[in-house]
Amino acid sequence: MYRFFAGPEQFRDGKVFLATEEAYHLRKVLRLESGTMVRVFNGRGHEYQVQLTVETSGRVWGQVVAEIDVLKEPKLKVTLAQGLAKREKNELVVQKATEIGVQAVIPVACERSVVKLSRKSTREDRLRRAAREAAKQCGRAVVPVVEPACAFRDLPARFNAFDAVLLCWEEEGSTDLKRALQQLRRQPLENLLVLVGPEGGFTLAEVHTAREHGARSVSLGPRILRTETAGLVALTAILYEFDELEP
Ligand code: SAH
Repeated sequence: MYRFFAGPEQFRDGKVFLATEEAYHLRKVLRLESGTMVRVFNGRGHEYQVQLTVETSGRVWGQVVAEIDVLKEPKLKVTLAQGLAKREKNELVVQKATEIGVQAVIPVACERSVVKLSRKSTREDRLRRAAREAAKQCGRAVVPVVEPACAFRDLPARFNAFDAVLLCWEEEGSTDLKRALQQLRRQPLENLLVLVGPEGGFTLAEVHTAREHGARSVSLGPRILRTETAGLVALTAILYEFDELEP
């Protein structure tokens, strides 16, 4: 059964009204007609079986027939603070992190980010779209939150909202991710923030600031990973270590 996205605000009185883009795709590409049963998820963890009505005007809405069981979400909520890189890379990271099971992504403008914070609204739209499309494709009923991009200096103030903060640092010589996670497992852990630097990496000052605010720096191994690889490796390893990749 085809799957579509519609935010909670698009549901009214047992009906769901699809956005123009989804409606267009449904009519022109998939050529679905009135009466077809589809699935519609709201991005906040609910999914419904819906019977379509395709109006001649092009408007598409559906009658909600039943609520459907959704995929299990990881119990451990991982937020990825990703150093801003070139555009396609950010989109790739959001797409893949959504598939793997991230809870939220915070794009972060670091000292060595080539891309700066300007023109951010279109960029955020693209990133949110990447998250939505990836959730649609991979079967998640939750669309990870893509937060507004923030400057690195504003990040430490948010550390308190997390049970633990890990900063991936290629120069970390003693603590690797596995060891850090094994230590963290001794206490109840619900949400975790993972920081990954941009193409040029974190500056020493950024590493020190993060540590002073309680972040632990961790190594992801002896090889230097590209920024778009590092967050995905960290996310996968964390979810694996916490048994979140079981069927
Ligand atoms: N400073 C470097 C590489 C930056 S890699 C240079 O330009 O040579 C980009 C980001 O990926 C880093 O900031 C870090 O967060 C992460 N990263 C890459 N390889 C890593 C490793 N082996 N261990 C931990 N983090 C790593």
